[in-house]
Amino acid sequence: MMLPVLRCPLCSKILERRAEKAVCSYCDEVDEPQEGAPLPWRCPDGHFICETCRSSEPERLWPRLVATAKSLDPYAIANLAMAHPSMRQTPYGPDHHGIPAIALLVALRNAGVFTGTDQRILAAARRGRAMPSGACYLEGGCGACIGAGAAVSTVLKLGLKSTGRSWALRAVSLSLGALAETGGLRCCKEAVYEAIGGALAVLGSMMPAAASMQRERVVCSFASDMPECKRSACPHYPGDSAAMRPE
Ligand SMILES: [Zn+2]
Ligand SMILES: [Zn+2]
Repeated sequence: MMLPVLRCPLCSKILERRAEKAVCSYCDEVDEPQEGAPLPWRCPDGHFICETCRSSEPERLWPRLVATAKSLDPYAIANLAMAHPSMRQTPYGPDHHGIPAIALLVALRNAGVFTGTDQRILAAARRGRAMPSGACYLEGGCGACIGAGAAVSTVLKLGLKSTGRSWALRAVSLSLGALAETGGLRCCKEAVYEAIGGALAVLGSMMPAAASMQRERVVCSFASDMPECKRSACPHYPGDSAAMRPE
């Protein structure tokens, strides 16, 4: 009898039964093998999602991710967020709008150049999330790119009379401009990557830690999930034969 092949929900690698503990990729909860029970299924790359995180909608998942993510790489944090099963089910949509602010502010906090609370990070994410679905074609806006401005505003503590508001405007302008350059056809993954890139371009000019987070090229981990992928017209397209898995 053929045994079923179980795959990792994050990277699609085939799971193996192993006598190893695992740590939830989203909240750090530890899952230990139970005495007397069959060995647990484990991803060879160490990915694991606890039951609470697996069944959480993005609104409930983001606080857990913000509280525990340790990466210094905003692209890796964004990829982890976008690899969650709930995001895989809806590869387009406004849940993407909060991701750039979360990814940027968590990475910058981990790098020691931003000291805001989880609540401040989630408040910045909500500003991006407030942009409605379809804003890209209805209004010429994008919540993910607004999230780039919200992240810059939060890091620089901009206020009503701050002259530095041009930095937030520039982050939004750079990211929206990058989307327009590839034709504007919707791709929420591309928007997330461009928003992070726009914010890092602005912050990198004043913070070496942000400059070190910039990438020469960001390769999309989700092209095979996207029914309307622009493929070679997108600067993040990994190529037809490349493996497309989150990091
Ligand atoms: Zn995996
Ligand atoms: Zn968890």
